[in-house]
Amino acid sequence: MSNSASVDLSLTAEESAFRDELRAFLEAHLPGERASLDDEAARLEESRRWQRTLAEGRWAVPGWPERWGGRDAGPVQLMLYEAELARARAPRGVNVIGTGWGAAALLRHGTPEQQQRLLPPIPAGDEIWCQLFSEPGAGSDLASLTTRATRADGGWRVEGQKVWSSIAQIADRGLLLARTDPAAPKHAGITCFALDMRASGVEVRPIRQITGEQEFNEVFFDGAFVADSDRVGAEGAGWTVAITTLMAERVGLSAGEGTLWGQGPTFADVLTLWRGRRDAGLLPPGDAGAALRDEMARLHIEGEALRMTGLRLLSAVARGEVPAAEMSVRKLASDLWGQQVHDAVWQLLGVEAQLGPGEPRAVGEGAWQRAFLFARALTIGGGTTEVQKDILVRRILGVRG
Ligand SMILES: Cc1cc2nc3c(=O)[nH]c(=O)nc-3n(C[C@H](O)[C@H](O)[C@H](O)COP(=O)(O)OP(=O)(O)OC[C@H]3O[C@@H](n4cnc5c(N)ncnc54)[C@H](O)[C@@H]3O)c2cc1C
Repeated sequence: MSNSASVDLSLTAEESAFRDELRAFLEAHLPGERASLDDEAARLEESRRWQRTLAEGRWAVPGWPERWGGRDAGPVQLMLYEAELARARAPRGVNVIGTGWGAAALLRHGTPEQQQRLLPPIPAGDEIWCQLFSEPGAGSDLASLTTRATRADGGWRVEGQKVWSSIAQIADRGLLLARTDPAAPKHAGITCFALDMRASGVEVRPIRQITGEQEFNEVFFDGAFVADSDRVGAEGAGWTVAITTLMAERVGLSAGEGTLWGQGPTFADVLTLWRGRRDAGLLPPGDAGAALRDEMARLHIEGEALRMTGLRLLSAVARGEVPAAEMSVRKLASDLWGQQVHDAVWQLLGVEAQLGPGEPRAVGEGAWQRAFLFARALTIGGGTTEVQKDILVRRILGVRG
């Protein structure tokens, strides 16, 4: 990581103005009454409304070019954006896959006609996107995917199955990777499509996850038709499109404002919880309490180190570097840290962890339980812990074999 040891923490006047405008927007538009964590339908509705509100304020897609409704925001501004949304506990917009990965694919590889047709409905959530990459036999080794697309009149017919497709049950478009040339080397035989999820032959079956929610799905294709005008990038270039979207996911790296998952509890909330319990004399007695205090101190220090690492990587990105391997290592460390934080919260709350204390109040009823359970997912999604360790050993430590 050449030069990336230096960190510039100061904001330019333009960056400060960007942050202040966003902060004022959030203060003016954040919903007062929030949907209950237990009411999935109400949360989805809140998320749809919030997506529209963001779009109306031109805050749904700050990283996009201005002519498509964005603000041409650079990496520092995008980091400020994420940090401000987390600080304000803003709801999550429903179309994060569309505004992030779908858009990254279209802006880089889409034709002008596709951009004209497919980009405008994304920011307000008029077309919700999902990502159709993983399959039962292709996750970490994504390039071994077997879903087939074969030439048909005017387009392609798709056969096969995807899995773990987040929000596919409400999606209008799916960014699909399918094998179009089984004879080609595995990375070269894949093509990307913006599939119409309402096409006949597409069947979505929801999967209920450990948090009790139904965000995941299996998606089956039985001769589903996709027009050639919905092919994103050249035939056989799907792997390049996939890499673009995966990099977009990584460049969205947060500078570690302490959010443990999405817009849920932050580490500052954990410290507030800890202090409240300590002041009320509710810490475990004896050695268990001392061990928990030590663990809190360790997690605090590690959290700060992660925050600084995030800023260091952000400075590198702002200089035009692509510290891809280092970002993987930060993902590895921060996801494990997140799980350890929630293990500590569980110990801190004891049996109450399962009963649902809503302290500190801003965190909301049931949020600790959900965060604890969801933290398990983070060491799997976007590349598992073992895969990140592999990247660390090969690309940073330079170990071969
Ligand atoms: C919250 C969440 C949201 C997701 N959303 C989507 C989505 O919207 N669309 C989508 O397409 N997918 C999505 N996924 C799927 C995700 O991309 C895959 O789960 C991930 O890539 C891992 O693949 P897998 O589940 O098939 O596990 P596998 O790749 O089968 O791995 C199983 C185990 O083997 C280990 N392993 C695999 N390869 C190696 C190796 N080379 N060296 C050492 N160990 C290895 C893994 O670390 C893991 O422990 C989501 C996952 C999560 C958790």
